[in-house]
Order: sequence, then structure tokens, then C-alpha cells
Amino acid sequence: MDANGIKEIAIKLGADLCGIAPVKRFDNAPDGFRPVDIYAECQSILVFAKRLPTTSLFASSCVPYSHVNDLITREVDSLTLQISLKLEDIGINNVLIPSDDPYEHWESEKMYGRAILSLRHAGMLAGLGKLGQSTLLINDRYGNMIQIGATLLNVELAGDSLADYEVCPDGCDLCLDSCPQAALNGETVNQLLCRPFSNFITPKGYNLKKCNLCRSICPSALGIEG
Ligand code: SF4
Ligand code: SF4
Repeated sequence: MDANGIKEIAIKLGADLCGIAPVKRFDNAPDGFRPVDIYAECQSILVFAKRLPTTSLFASSCVPYSHVNDLITREVDSLTLQISLKLEDIGINNVLIPSDDPYEHWESEKMYGRAILSLRHAGMLAGLGKLGQSTLLINDRYGNMIQIGATLLNVELAGDSLADYEVCPDGCDLCLDSCPQAALNGETVNQLLCRPFSNFITPKGYNLKKCNLCRSICPSALGIEG
């Protein structure tokens, strides 16, 4: 089956976006966090995303947005499982990647966690969008309101073109300037500063996303105009 046939499977199962990145595009990823470090036979990465309902981002309470995040993560994990099974059924071996947790790398003093594969970078390398200064992947149609999934394939496939649009308008530093923790520098997030706001644990034990300003304030949050 060719690249288009595989992407059609993902779309039919519920992906809103889908692309393919040949494994060579990950040569600059950090040692130990490349697709071949996870699955030695990997030749192509199928990356897909589902859109989030957008209005919760602007709600006064952080509960709806936190809930949407939990739901969409489970939804994308479930989609990843379905895609993985379907590909196995047609003889394509593949190793699925969690949409969020779990991962092993954790530096407790910095509260720094690193996923086994950066799905934001995988999305960029598969043509799903570009990284904004917020470090979020921004797609022209759905903005930064997407949840990404991926599976590593043992077949060589044609890659999609990288996105050719600009996601950060000239002179925009809104996310950097608005972050209440000054956690952004345009390339990375200081997780030690961000986590207490973006993963706030209530006295009852619920995990709430009390801050999403770098996402909501972005002029490209809901897509690229024009
Ligand atoms: S707020 Fe501005 S600088 Fe930050 S990601 Fe969005 S467009 Fe880019
Ligand atoms: S979620 Fe909030 S604290 Fe974290 S980087 Fe974004 S704006 Fe800053």
C-alpha cells in the first residue's frame, strides 16, 4: 500500500489531519529520542491529529479546558490503537506512540519530562504545521487546537511536503510577553516554571490546567487567517 492509502486509513478512522515523515527527517533529533531508538526497523512515521473543540479555551473556568484535554488525549490514544491494528491487519508492522503519557525521561530537579518522541516535531516533519514561539504546533486550518498522535512504520513511504506558511506574524511576541511565569524563550518551555500553572493539582487531587494563555492569546490559535 502507498502513502495515500495509509493516510486514507487514518482519515477514515477519524483523524482530522494526517501526514508522513520519512525517518531521515529525524536525524537531528536528540540521541535516544529518534524513531529508530524506539523501533529499529522504522522507515516512516505516520503522524495524525484530531482537532479540539475551541470554545472551552476561552471559558472563565479552567475545568472545561482541562476536561477537553483529558478527553482528546484518550481519544487520540484510542485512534492510534485503531490505526495500529488496521495497519497490522494489512501486513504493516508499526509501533504506536502515546499521545501524552507515559514516558521515562524525568529530571526531577527541573521537573523536566521528555516524551520518547516529540510529537510536535513529528507533526512539523510530516507537514502538519509549524512550531510557533509558544512551542506549540500550529496548523493553518485548526491552529494550535490539535492533539497529535503517531505510529512508526516499517515501510518506506513518500513524505509529505513541509508546511510552507508562516505561523507567527512579524513582530508577534504575545505568548512570550503574556506568560505569567516568563517560562517561554521562543524555543523551549521552562517546565519548572510552567508546570505548577499548567498542571495544577487541587487539594482533592484533580489535575487542572489553570493556565493556557500561550495557547489562547495566540492570533493563530484557531488557524491562520487569509
Ligand atoms: S502568540 Fe504570536 S509569537 Fe506566540 S506562537 Fe502565537 S503567533 Fe507565534
Ligand atoms: S501554560 Fe501558562 S505558564 Fe505555561 S508556558 Fe503557557 S502561558 Fe506560560
